[in-house]
Amino acid sequence: MCKYAFLNPLYIAYFCSLKKHENMSKRYTITAALPYTNGPIHIGHLAGVYVPADIYARYLRLTGNDVAFICGSDEHGVPITIKAKKEGVTPQDIVDKYHAIIKQSFEDFGITFDNYSRTTAKIHHDTAQEFFKTLYDKNEFVEEVTEQLYDAEANQFLADRFVTGTCPKCGNEEAYGDQCENCGSSLNATDLINPKSAITGNVPSLKETKHWFLPLNKHEDFLREWILKGHKKDWKPNVYGQVKSWIDDGLRPRAVTRDLDWGIPVPVEGGEGKVLYVWFDAPIGYISSTKEWAAREGKNWEDYWKDKDTKLVHFIGKDNIVFHCIIFPSMLKAEGSYILPDNVPANEFLNLEGQKLSTSKNWAVWLPDYLIDFPNQQDVLRYALTANAPESKDNDFTWKDFQARNNNELVAIFGNFINRVVVLTNKYYDGIIPEPSDYSTIDEETLAAVKAYPAVISSSIERYRFREASQELMNLARLGNKYLADEEPWKTFKTDEARTKTVMFVALQIASALAVLSEPFLPFTSTKLKGILNSNDNGWEDVSTKDILIQASHQIGKGELLFSKIEDSEIQIQLDKLEASKKANEAEKKVTEPQKDEITFDDFTKLDLRVGTILEAEKMPKTKKLLVLKVDTGIDTRTIVSGIAESFSPEDVIGKRVTVLVNLAPRALRGVESQGMILMTEDEGGNLVFVNPDIDGVKNGLQIS
Ligand SMILES: [Zn+2]
Repeated sequence: MCKYAFLNPLYIAYFCSLKKHENMSKRYTITAALPYTNGPIHIGHLAGVYVPADIYARYLRLTGNDVAFICGSDEHGVPITIKAKKEGVTPQDIVDKYHAIIKQSFEDFGITFDNYSRTTAKIHHDTAQEFFKTLYDKNEFVEEVTEQLYDAEANQFLADRFVTGTCPKCGNEEAYGDQCENCGSSLNATDLINPKSAITGNVPSLKETKHWFLPLNKHEDFLREWILKGHKKDWKPNVYGQVKSWIDDGLRPRAVTRDLDWGIPVPVEGGEGKVLYVWFDAPIGYISSTKEWAAREGKNWEDYWKDKDTKLVHFIGKDNIVFHCIIFPSMLKAEGSYILPDNVPANEFLNLEGQKLSTSKNWAVWLPDYLIDFPNQQDVLRYALTANAPESKDNDFTWKDFQARNNNELVAIFGNFINRVVVLTNKYYDGIIPEPSDYSTIDEETLAAVKAYPAVISSSIERYRFREASQELMNLARLGNKYLADEEPWKTFKTDEARTKTVMFVALQIASALAVLSEPFLPFTSTKLKGILNSNDNGWEDVSTKDILIQASHQIGKGELLFSKIEDSEIQIQLDKLEASKKANEAEKKVTEPQKDEITFDDFTKLDLRVGTILEAEKMPKTKKLLVLKVDTGIDTRTIVSGIAESFSPEDVIGKRVTVLVNLAPRALRGVESQGMILMTEDEGGNLVFVNPDIDGVKNGLQIS
């Protein structure tokens, strides 16, 4: 019988079966997808990649492992050059600007990269060129002259995002030359149906050019063996499934060079005017960033990329699976001296209030904006995004859920427990931890339950289930709350001094455990809590191995609120911002309608258009849109029913000069006969505008011709 059998039965399975911790420090190289530097980052990036990667890296460091947590800005590729052209600046200006903004956001949110580099750095250009050269020398590329899409007007080949068209796989009409964002297919520009230049809008022609291709087909057997056989059990089903479908579809050679001027020059003969494909150079960025870090820290970078005992893990979003599971491993395999990723725990997408996050549509919560509206509340966002992480399916971020996670969990459970412990310790004992007496069964069970948490949370984190891990952390806070509620030290304080001291002592042990175990998830809170407890001595394992985490007679600090309630009004501000984005998007969507079919002059003269004045107006009962107008047309005064009530009140329109189509056949609307039509147009915001004579004194009844 396991001695912890009295614990919550859910834990027993884990805890009894856990092997004694071997305390073997391992080496880990953890990479987080290089953010693309054509804009700031938003909550989708944080939820999908950077928060889970940071939880993992922090956890591994806390458990004594050797960790290189690596990232950097991805600064090449076509979208940056398109943005630069649009803004009339250089691509370097664009990447300098966003590299600084993105780097700051990561620091602000406590993402603990060991190194954050950039792909325009010299060390990266050198590393990527050397990598290319090695594969070239080993004959790992296929060199081929092919016909590529060419925009004659722009005098440029149309690679990647310079061309859009219809995806041959799913029919999405806005697929790019390298990838369809709708179905995730990786494409060649020439695969697109009805291609169109993103520079001029022209239909491109085909022109011959020489490029180097990575023959992925050559690596198919290896990929099948390594992933489909080797990682069937430990890779996430969504990742495994995507990889399998690509391999089963048949892999084809992929061009790894481009006819562009922004990027890393192709370092071999015949490569003049060509650069490395951004997806060839970007993952090598993990290697060059590690080199930069190792040089600074006096380490050997090769230990982190070439030693088979090192565990390499790539954190990415699902749109990058093909590059990290097929293309980059094929490159590493072809090079020959590198290790392969042990796991690629890609997340699905996070939506925002039911809609896909979109940079171009400004449908996002940008990290710099979040910090302005919620200063010092990084942990709240980290927690809300983790508790609702899109780990196994697309998930929705809603501001209401964010508010509920804060108010009902962080404030009401975690914060409330800590606050009660700290306030009571200060009130009863001037902040000096009291000496306990003998433990009751409840005390012993509670302390044993606390000891189980490091293993339970570790087990979830090591299986990349960060959402589950964050909920276990909250369960520990719940345990503390329940303990206090059951033992009621505020009642026993008057009747049983010894018991009260014991209860407070036990509660302080739980608070200490929370200070340690919350660090990967709530790093700012953990630091604050350690400060309040005046204790920074415990490591992850100590929570399960030490009987006492914080000693009697130790002095703790004063209470300080860890979290504060978020009011409805703060949430409404965020919802209003999104509503404004939605309106702006709708306005932008209004494109100029194409010209209608030609008509003859005779057709035109059939229309009898007159200048008129609205004399009376009232709302049509029981309708939202209709106004019943009396209009002086110069010929007569007639009734016209007009669908303008959502834009104008009756008072707005009385006395308005208007243009009236007077010979339109009458028709009945809600029982009222409408004898003509008033001409209107609509502005960009969707507001109706009258079409009327632009000077006063034009008499009613004048014909418009
Ligand atoms: Zn598609």
